[in-house]
Amino acid sequence: QEALAGEAEVIPAASPIALGVNISTLLEARKTPGTGASSVGLCRTELLFPNRQQAPGLERQVQIYQHIARECAPAVVTFRLLDAGGDKPLPWLGKGSEPNPALGWHGIRVLLDNPQLLDTQLQALLEVSRQYPLRIMIPMVSELDEVLAVKDRLATLAGQMALPCPPLGAMVETPSAAMLADVLAEEVDFFSIGSNDLAQYTLAVDRENPKVADRLNAVSPALVRLMARVVDAAQPRSLPVTLCGELAASPDYLPLWLGLGLTGLSMQASALPAIRQRLVTPVALPERQALLGCRSTAELSALLQKA
Ligand code: PEP
Ligand code: MG
Repeated sequence: QEALAGEAEVIPAASPIALGVNISTLLEARKTPGTGASSVGLCRTELLFPNRQQAPGLERQVQIYQHIARECAPAVVTFRLLDAGGDKPLPWLGKGSEPNPALGWHGIRVLLDNPQLLDTQLQALLEVSRQYPLRIMIPMVSELDEVLAVKDRLATLAGQMALPCPPLGAMVETPSAAMLADVLAEEVDFFSIGSNDLAQYTLAVDRENPKVADRLNAVSPALVRLMARVVDAAQPRSLPVTLCGELAASPDYLPLWLGLGLTGLSMQASALPAIRQRLVTPVALPERQALLGCRSTAELSALLQKA
């Protein structure tokens, strides 16, 4: 309790960037108000139903999402649609083995191949939206059609339930989504950059392989350029662009996110105090052109150290 009270004192009056938390358990939901976070930028719904043999039904999903929204209020929760596959296999989907799971049946691909599963989750979230404002986010987007398909189902189901559509966002976790950000921006309400996967796919580095995964702890110039593309695509429509991968938790990179023009960061709650502390003193923003001109990770680090 005391630690939480002490922590709250260093929350700057006006943060230049919205700070949110990532959650994947009911316990983390319960702790959310104590973190002072203004939102839940990522709720990993695929981790909310462990040890199951079957897909959770509508009633169970409504119950869990409602519980989470209630515990987190007044923070608005961004529910990510089930991100099954890759590093998060769901036993009840019975997908069998794949030669290369990271490039396989994953995220939105699984949902579009299981329309009933997608519909049930959307219906559950719509039901909860009667009582709590929430946002819905699509994982592992790589094509426009995937966004259009979800948007269409959401609009149809919301119409049937006589409800407005909650804000719908796309995760930018593949280079394809980043390259298509201008196209996607016409169809979504917000972007959330998943740097864990975006870096994995951009650098061809397996996040699960200890021999190479270390390379994902530093920001590469290619990642910076892709992220800048997303910000540029979002700006004409004033769409929020949040970063919710692990990199958001590192205070050293704050000048980079501010310099690029990200509107929010979402991270594990334990990382928030250090980020807030870094924001207490004004952050010198590196020139955007200088950031985009960096030719290597080393040049980028040198530039950020001056900030
Ligand atoms: C990401 O890829 O950066 C992300 C936030 O999603 P996850 O780590 O759950 O794949
Ligand atoms: Mg991801």
